[in-house]
Amino acid sequence: MFNKTKIIATVGPASNSKENIKTLIESGVDVFRLNFSHGEHEDHLKVINYILEANEEMNTHVGILADLQGPKIRLGIVENDSIELITGSEILITRHKKESTAQELYITYEPLAQDIREGNRILIDDGKVELRVIATNSIDQVRAKVMHGGILSSKKGVNLPDTNISAASLTPKDIRDLEFILTQKIDWIALSFVRSPNDMIHLRGIMTFKNNTITKIIAKIERPEAVENIEAIIREADAIMVARGDLGVEIPVEKVPLVQKDIVAKCIAYAKPVIIATQMMESMIEKTLPMRAEVTDVANAILDGADAIMLSGETAMGKHPPLVVKTMTRIAKEMEEKGNIYSKYHTYSNRKANTFVSDDVCSNACRIADEIDARAITGMTVSGYTAFMLACNRPKADIFIFTNRRENLSLFSLIWGVRTFFYDKFTTTDETMVDVAAILKEKGFVNPGDFIVMTASMPLHESGRTNTIRVKEMPRY
Ligand code: PEP
Repeated sequence: MFNKTKIIATVGPASNSKENIKTLIESGVDVFRLNFSHGEHEDHLKVINYILEANEEMNTHVGILADLQGPKIRLGIVENDSIELITGSEILITRHKKESTAQELYITYEPLAQDIREGNRILIDDGKVELRVIATNSIDQVRAKVMHGGILSSKKGVNLPDTNISAASLTPKDIRDLEFILTQKIDWIALSFVRSPNDMIHLRGIMTFKNNTITKIIAKIERPEAVENIEAIIREADAIMVARGDLGVEIPVEKVPLVQKDIVAKCIAYAKPVIIATQMMESMIEKTLPMRAEVTDVANAILDGADAIMLSGETAMGKHPPLVVKTMTRIAKEMEEKGNIYSKYHTYSNRKANTFVSDDVCSNACRIADEIDARAITGMTVSGYTAFMLACNRPKADIFIFTNRRENLSLFSLIWGVRTFFYDKFTTTDETMVDVAAILKEKGFVNPGDFIVMTASMPLHESGRTNTIRVKEMPRY
């Protein structure tokens, strides 16, 4: 009835009307991404309101993800719209704002000359042009040799994969965007160019200061340091995005597939949602059919167990946003029906952790559900912990979460397999379980004779951790 793998669609000129948002939801979008690298706050505000109105009108809980730009480095404006760098030539790079020429480039990273070292690479336009540093004056200028030349236009992205970037992950622009984001109903904030867990601690500190303890943080993995610090980053973040666009420039491109698989496996082990992003259906920006390799890329991300797959340009400025989403939905359906993605039961190394017992209860609930071929698993949660813990076991049964916190409804839209209902009638465990089964039956999610594996925290009124498993067989009459 619905896919377990969630679909994220980036909103842009091709999708930023209410009608388009509603069509994309009907096509299978679970979360919309607002890219703060583009657009003004008033543009984002309109889109946020369209999504909230669409949720209201369609009775859906589609989530909103605000993606901060971070310290993205760019080439400035170039002379006559394009310049050509000749392989083997020597050029100057400055941090002073001016029009770039084939002899002198302006790059928007203030501490460039201080941070960079002789021999470091400077990659421009997704690595199509490569420079290597000959010398730096450590103040404002760098001399470099053009290793691979090419034609460059204004504002192309610049990557410094060998350089220790001293700039903070939150730039002054991000702080201004954050001020706006924290006044809105945003479920997830993505932090770009994360290097260490401290980047998340910093962001969380600002959010807590502003009394926001609801919105969750996604760490975008796109720097080599993030790959090195991955376990510590996963522990500190609420979710992870494998941001393959920049990652594939910052680390050798052939390393991306195994890094991606490793991150997905670790995120499942830590019960943190993981998103695979960028160029998933790139050819559908123009065409009505994806490339075979793209279909296999999407399928492999789903088979590895990613919580969500993300569309960027395809839905932001492509020609066929609903068709791309429908195509992704079809691939997910096929993999989820026929692929081997289930039963990754959580294993516990730390028996002393204060979540150990409830983690084990969730894991065993999923194991029982798989063994008895249950149709549904249910969980009750205030904090949301049970939703994350049930999902990370990747059970075949559908996961239905009942929560009395309205904020959770759209927040959980990113988590693998989870569908969420508002429920605030927590009386006795017995009554609640009868109620929950009746709701699932009424909505057509379970049929007579189906098994439901129900988890709860007894006694309910104490709102403790999940400690109870009950198996219910739906009456056959
Ligand atoms: C990426 O680099 O893959 C990515 C998702 O980041 P952005 O689109 O914000 O550059």
